Amino acid sequence: MTSASAIPPGFHGTAAAAGIDLAGRTALVTGAGSGIGRACALALAGAGAHVHVVDVDAAAAASVAASTGGRAHVVDLAQAAPVGELPAEVDILVNNAGLQHVAPLTDFPPDRFELLQRVMVHAPFLLLRRTLPYMYARGWGRVVNISSVHGLRASAYKAGYVTAKHALEGLSKVAAVEGAPHGVTSNCVSPGYVRTPLVERQIAAQAAAHGLDADRVVSEVMLGRSAVKRLIEPEEVAAVVLWLCGPHTGHLTGSSLPLDGGWTAT
Ligand code: NAD
Repeated sequence: MTSASAIPPGFHGTAAAAGIDLAGRTALVTGAGSGIGRACALALAGAGAHVHVVDVDAAAAASVAASTGGRAHVVDLAQAAPVGELPAEVDILVNNAGLQHVAPLTDFPPDRFELLQRVMVHAPFLLLRRTLPYMYARGWGRVVNISSVHGLRASAYKAGYVTAKHALEGLSKVAAVEGAPHGVTSNCVSPGYVRTPLVERQIAAQAAAHGLDADRVVSEVMLGRSAVKRLIEPEEVAAVVLWLCGPHTGHLTGSSLPLDGGWTAT
């Protein structure tokens, strides 16, 4: 397995530890069947929110809905029509679903480029359009967009992903500016490499491509630009998402919080 360790000693990702009570709030989390989205759904439900678990993977969505006491919605976010049928009455929107495709620009398949924009930019736009009126009516709302260090920096062979995440950062800022008079904040959380199935697949692929073992792919390829030399755990990302939904962050909007171990500081 990879070199990084589990959640750091002393880590308390619980709502109680953060003093956050989301009883009476409803959240919608996309890509909630796995990885970061799953951790966000669990954290928000742990704070008392009712959670709509949205994912294209029916079994994963059902499993997380069962764990959170929430409701599963099996939706392909690349398709506009079913996105338009998701619940509009949500106080917290976490735009998390995403996918990766790695190829040089000259070989990048146009259909994959478009798919990444549909899932990671167009679906968040449609969901904002759909859910903001309810938040505005209630005078409170939290939008958290799971961006990436690649929303702030570029890497080779990630044209579709870097383009989509930069666009998401811009969309998030517009939502912040328009939402402010209505008590709605919008922020990006922008991690480096997180230990999720998405990254585990990349480790395996890069290990095969470079002829390196998995530990060297993590330490030399993935963590090469990070000052903190371990992968982030999904629960650490979810703890920041939860904090953004709490009572102390009303003035924090239009920002991008880099959880990147110092990558963007260099
Ligand atoms: P993951 O693969 O573990 O989970 C992604 C989830 O999104 C899956 O459950 C998948 O079924 C769902 N999904 C994908 N396409 C979908 C579609 N068309 N419709 C509905 N659901 C769909 O990945 P993850 O690492 O947890 O990534 C979550 C988000 O975090 C993504 O936006 C990703 O870009 C971002 N992110 C991940 C990392 C990382 O290192 N893992 C780093 C920075 C940002």
